[in-house]
Amino acid sequence: MAMKRHCAAELRPPRVMIQTLGCAKNSVDSETLAGLLQQSGFEYVHRESQADVIVVNTCGFIDDAKVESIQVMLEAVRWKQARKGRRVLAMGCLTQRDGSEIRAELPELDGVFGIGDWSAMLAALGANPLSVNESTEVTLYSGKAGPGSAYLRISDGCSHACAFCAIPQMRGLYRSEPIESLVDEARLLARTGVRELMLIGQETTSYGVDLYRKRMLVELCQRLADIDGIEWIGIVYAHPPSTPAGFLSGRARVPKLLPYIDFPSEHAAPRMLKLMNRKTSAAKMKEAIDAFRDGRDNVCVRTTVLVGFPGEMDSDFEQLYEFMKDVRFERAGVFTYSPQSGTAGELLGDPVEEGVALDRLDRLMRLQREICLSRHKKLIGTTLPVLIARHVRDASWGRSTWDAPDIDARVRVRGMLSTGQIHQVKVTGAAAYQLDGVPESIENSARGESCGSFALPVLSH
Ligand code: SF4
Repeated sequence: MAMKRHCAAELRPPRVMIQTLGCAKNSVDSETLAGLLQQSGFEYVHRESQADVIVVNTCGFIDDAKVESIQVMLEAVRWKQARKGRRVLAMGCLTQRDGSEIRAELPELDGVFGIGDWSAMLAALGANPLSVNESTEVTLYSGKAGPGSAYLRISDGCSHACAFCAIPQMRGLYRSEPIESLVDEARLLARTGVRELMLIGQETTSYGVDLYRKRMLVELCQRLADIDGIEWIGIVYAHPPSTPAGFLSGRARVPKLLPYIDFPSEHAAPRMLKLMNRKTSAAKMKEAIDAFRDGRDNVCVRTTVLVGFPGEMDSDFEQLYEFMKDVRFERAGVFTYSPQSGTAGELLGDPVEEGVALDRLDRLMRLQREICLSRHKKLIGTTLPVLIARHVRDASWGRSTWDAPDIDARVRVRGMLSTGQIHQVKVTGAAAYQLDGVPESIENSARGESCGSFALPVLSH
C-alpha cells in the first residue's frame, strides 16, 4: 500500500533528505524535487537521523563519480536497514543510464528513477502528483549555489557526441528553457535575496538555437541584467566547437556579466581532438579566448582537459602542454580518462596506461599551479568585489568574479562581513588557489553595501 502523506503513528509529515552527487545540474534537480515534495506535504531535512526517506541523486559522469554514487547508495541502504520503516530511492544520471543494472544489484532500494521522473517519484513516495501545480513549475530551473547565489539552468541535454562523454545518453538532446520562464524565475530569486545568477546547462553558448533558431544567450543575459537586485551573471559550460570567436568578441555590452567563462578545451592536439570528436582546433579555441579577453587583464577563462584518452601519444600530450602554457588559463581542471559505456571512446581500445596518464595530469597541474600563483600575485594591492559565502572563526570566505561556486579558488577576508552580499576587498596575499584580503571600506562593508554593477564588454553574436 502506498505511504500516506502523513505518518499516522507520529502525525507529522514524512521527512525526506536528498543526497546530491555530481555537478550543479544535479543540484538543480535536487532542489526541484525538494520543492515538489514540500508542495506535496513532505518536510525537507538535512540530516539522516531526522529522515524517513533518503533520495540519492546519482552522478555517472566518470568512473570515480559512479563509484561514489554506488557507495552512497550502499550507505543509504545500511541506514535503511538500521530502522524499520525507512526507505531509499535513487535518481539522477547514473540511474538514468544504468537503472536496470542498479535495480538488479541493489534490490534493497525502494525505487530507481531516471532524470525528471517526478510524477513516478512522487507516486512512489505516496504523494499526489496532481499537487504539482503551475506555481511549482516556476521552481524547476534553479538551485542554490550558496548565500546570495543561485544556479539558473537555461538548458538541459546535449546534441553533441564527444567520444568520451555519456551525458547525451543520460540527459537527452539539447533543449533550451524559454526566456520568459527564466526571467520570471530570476525575478523570484532576486526577491529572495539572490545577487548572483550562474547560468548552467550542458553547454550554454548554444542557448536558444533549438527554440528560437539562433543563439540567444546575449538577449537572455540582457533581460536578466534588467532585474533589480541581480548584480552578477556568470556563465559556465561553454562549448568551444560551437563558440565562434565573433560570439565572444566585445561588440555587445552586457551589464553585470562577470568577466568569467568556463571553456572546456579537453585537448589541443589535432589528432586527439579528432578522436574525441571535438570539431575545433587549438587555433580556433585560442582565437575565441583572445576575443573574450579582448586585451583586458581582469578576465578569467577556465578550462578542463582530459589526459590518457586512447591513442594519446607523448607528442600529443606535449602539444596540449604547450597550449596550456601558451594560453595561460586563469583556472584549469585536469582529468584522466575512464571509458564510458556506449560512447565512441569505448571502441577506440584501451586508455593510456594509468601511471602515464597520472604523470601527465601531474605535469599539467604543476604548470597550472605556477600560472595561478603568478596571476594571483599580480592581484596583490588591487581591489576586487567578493561575494561572501560563510564565516570561519574570525574571517569571512567568499568568491571573486574569477570563481564559480564549488569549482574555483576562494577569498579569505579579515572580519565578519555580511554573507550573501558583495563587498569590495583589497587583496593583501596570494596563494595558487586562494587570495587573502581586507575590506576596502570597513564602514561600507559593515553596512553590507554591495559593489553595484559593472559593465564589461563580453558577448556578441
Ligand atoms: S558537449 Fe561533449 S562533453 Fe559536453 S555534454 Fe555534450 S557530449 Fe558531453
